[in-house]
Order: sequence, then structure tokens, then C-alpha cells
Amino acid sequence: MLPGTVWFVGAGPGDPELITVKGRALLERAGAVLFAGSLVDATVARYAPPEAEIADSKSMTLEEIGQWLVSRAQRHHTVVRLQTGDPTLYGALTEMTRLLDGAGIPWRVVPGVSSAFAAAAAAGVSLTLPEVTQTVILTRTAGRTPMPEGEALAALAAHRTTVCLFLSITHTRAIEAAFLSAGWSPESPVLVVHKATWPEEQVVRTTLANLSASCRAAKIATQAMIILSPVLATEGAVSLPRSRLYDPKFTHRFRRATPPEVS
Ligand code: SAH
Repeated sequence: MLPGTVWFVGAGPGDPELITVKGRALLERAGAVLFAGSLVDATVARYAPPEAEIADSKSMTLEEIGQWLVSRAQRHHTVVRLQTGDPTLYGALTEMTRLLDGAGIPWRVVPGVSSAFAAAAAAGVSLTLPEVTQTVILTRTAGRTPMPEGEALAALAAHRTTVCLFLSITHTRAIEAAFLSAGWSPESPVLVVHKATWPEEQVVRTTLANLSASCRAAKIATQAMIILSPVLATEGAVSLPRSRLYDPKFTHRFRRATPPEVS
């Protein structure tokens, strides 16, 4: 018998309604589901069939995860590895797919809504703004995983773009130091979103100088997205640069410019 396929599915940031239609359809027909910790168990409970084999990978090693997926793919047509947010960000995807390749098991990836986007949505902020920043850096502070050469936080902060920090809530002091040393003002606004899209979601708006103190005061020590951006400093501004896409003076593929009025 041919082995089944292992699908790496992005569950989104937590709200079970934020999985993609394709991801949900795969979960609904899965013979086995391996999910990543408590962040996605509500999604599994809502969509996986009751007869499916279901396991939490929380206490498994990479080798155990590999063995679980390989053995289930030998028994089931559809095996789902459900990951938080998008599977291509901080999800050990490559380590797992190498093991599957070694065992001759086919695999595919279904994208998900990353927590970076869920956090921006929760606060109602745009990560890009014309003439303010057109670039988003998705990164993390160095923890037990060291940062590669050239990716020190201060070096990234020097670009003055939007920076979304994953896996960094226990390193707020290091974040303050890095951005200050890159020349950001202590008054720079910072957004912290804890458990975006969960019933217990918390949105904290603070400043660079107060980042650690605000997280401590709000008792946020896990599952948080930290966003620094020059866009945040424009919130409440009276006049903003506007997007060319909707500018009446700008012609593009779907709309001709409105001719200027002649008086
Ligand atoms: N692949 C995931 C990230 C996994 S790393 C994604 O695309 O979102 C885990 C980190 O993601 C956490 O430390 C936290 O920084 C962030 N995160 C995941 N879910 C979150 C949520 N609901 N709210 C805020 N941050 C979240």
C-alpha cells in the first residue's frame, strides 16, 4: 500500500475560524492529527473527526515526531501536522520534512495566518504606510537559538522599518537596549499583543522605554507578538501620506486618473 501524505497545516493564531478553508477540509478528513501544544487544540477539537488518532507533540523530540508522522502515514491517507500561525515561520518545518523525505513519505504545506498579522489586526494597525515604511522584518531575539551573522537586533532596527518580534517576550530588556542603541527614541510607540484572537487577547500600547515595565504590569510573560514600527508613531496624526493605489491623480491597470478640474 502507498503511504499517505503528511500535510503541514497552518492553524492560524488561535481562533479556530482563522484556519484556511483548505486546512479545515484536510483536518476534517484526517486519519491522524499531530498538533503543536495547547495553542491549537481548540481547532483540532472543532474539526478533526472523532475517530482520528490525535496526539500533542508538546513533549516529543524531533525524532519521536518524525516516527509518529511516518508510522501514521503508513496507515492513513491523510495525516495532518497542525502548527500555530504559518508553518514556515519558527516551526521546525525543514527538520521534519527531511525526516519524511528520508522515509519516502510525501508531504505538502498549507499556509496559515501568522500571529504577526493577527496582532496587527487586533490593534487595527497597518504594518506598512506610504513614505513611512514599506518594509516588514519578521525576527526574534537571540535565545537559546543564536542569531546568524548580520541579524543582531540592533542591526535590523537600524533600518527603521516595521519589526515584528516572535519568541521574544522574555527578552524585553534586550529589545529596549537594541532599539535605543540603533537610535530609536525612548518615546517610540511599541505594540504588544498577548494571545491574539483568543478570548483572553490583550493589546498593550507602550513605549520603548517602558516596554519591560508595561509587560510586567500587564503580567504578559508568554505568547506575545511585539511590534515596533514608525507607523505606530503616526496613529492619530491629522494628515498622512496616502497610498498611490487610491489616489485620484494616479492611473493604474484598473482605473484612469481623474483629470484635474479646469476652472
Ligand atoms: N508559526 C507561528 C510562530 C511560532 S513561534 C506564526 O506564524 O505565528 C511562537 C511565537 O509566535 C510566540 O512566542 C509568539 O511570539 C508568537 N505567537 C503565536 N501565537 C500567537 C498569538 N495568538 N498571539 C501573539 N503571539 C503569538
